[in-house]
Amino acid sequence: MAAPRVAVVGAGLIGLSTALRIAEVNPNCCSITLLSEQFSPNTTSDVAAGMLIPHTYPGTPIHVQKQWFKETFTYLFAISNSAEASEAGIHLVSGWQIFKNPSEAEVPFWSDIVLGFRPMSAAELQKFPQHSHGQAFTTLKCDCPPYLLWLEKRLKANGVQIHTRKVADLWELHSEYDIVVNCTGIGARQLVGDQQLFPIRGQVLKVHAPWVKNFIRDGDGLTYIYPGIDSVTLGGTREKESWRLSPDPGTTKDIFDRCCSLEPSLQRAQDIRVKVGLRPSRSCVRLQREVLSQGGAKLLVVHNYGHGAGGFSVHRGTAEEAAHLVQECIAALQGSSSRAKL
Ligand code: FAD
Repeated sequence: MAAPRVAVVGAGLIGLSTALRIAEVNPNCCSITLLSEQFSPNTTSDVAAGMLIPHTYPGTPIHVQKQWFKETFTYLFAISNSAEASEAGIHLVSGWQIFKNPSEAEVPFWSDIVLGFRPMSAAELQKFPQHSHGQAFTTLKCDCPPYLLWLEKRLKANGVQIHTRKVADLWELHSEYDIVVNCTGIGARQLVGDQQLFPIRGQVLKVHAPWVKNFIRDGDGLTYIYPGIDSVTLGGTREKESWRLSPDPGTTKDIFDRCCSLEPSLQRAQDIRVKVGLRPSRSCVRLQREVLSQGGAKLLVVHNYGHGAGGFSVHRGTAEEAAHLVQECIAALQGSSSRAKL
């Protein structure tokens, strides 16, 4: 049979990283096209802080989430330690996760994957008089847009075709492609009618404060200061089922005040930009093969969406699993084509 034609729909972090992994594991075995309505800088992924601190998916076993995080951390750690690091926007960052209530300061499942995880010392805690406990560690951060643009460049180098296109129905791709990989983030709610998928609105500020070198995360995850290469991300909000993409000025002031109470030097921050994104949330990431049928015709689909608040932390691990599912689809197509010849 001719080389299978694979379409990956979506050009956020998940679509780009999934298309790249498919190209890496199937060199010359299939043609790959990336289709998306929006590209960087206009995706949810561009709004994110991009910190590798996992969110927990209640519907996915912890050992699976840990494996996704480990694969992602290992992959990005290697990039951070290469000549590509600055172009890819990947860097190590050290800091603190702090708690007011000692019962919240449990050792997380990912503590042995990040570097140097340990309880904070009494001297470190003096910086945070409102907090009694804390954890210090070093993790990785992906700066966006640079990381998305770097992935796009890698895709082009691997021969992936890239086109702007809004897909209204996966079936419209049936005559052009053999396998469709759905990485549409919150767009999947409309595209495949997934009612389990809902937005959690997040508003953040990107500020110029190059003297801030350490990350600070309040243990409840609502207030955070994440220094990147060119700007510091200040957060945040979590508004379930809100689809509003316009910034709220009252929330901007509230985020700024909360962050200044943890890091008073931010009072001097400049060039404050406000961003809003809709986290594509679900109880678990939808990583699944599906065969769609219509009037005797079949379309092989692999879903990879619903990464919620933790896409950056697990994207390489879920891309690996999605690429494996695409390989299974290719094997199924090759099997049915050789049976047809007999
Ligand atoms: P998106 O980036 O939204 O990409 C979806 C793509 O699909 C887009 O290109 C879109 O145009 C395309 N698309 C949708 N529908 C269609 C269609 N019908 N036809 C064609 N194309 C379509 N995660 C972390 O791990 N660490 C963090 O520090 C972090 N911070 C965050 C802070 C905020 C404020 C927010 C909002 C999120 C944060 N996240 C973080 C979560 C992370 O951003 C998401 O999990 C991740 O970006 C999801 O990526 P995605 O590719 O699935 O979605």
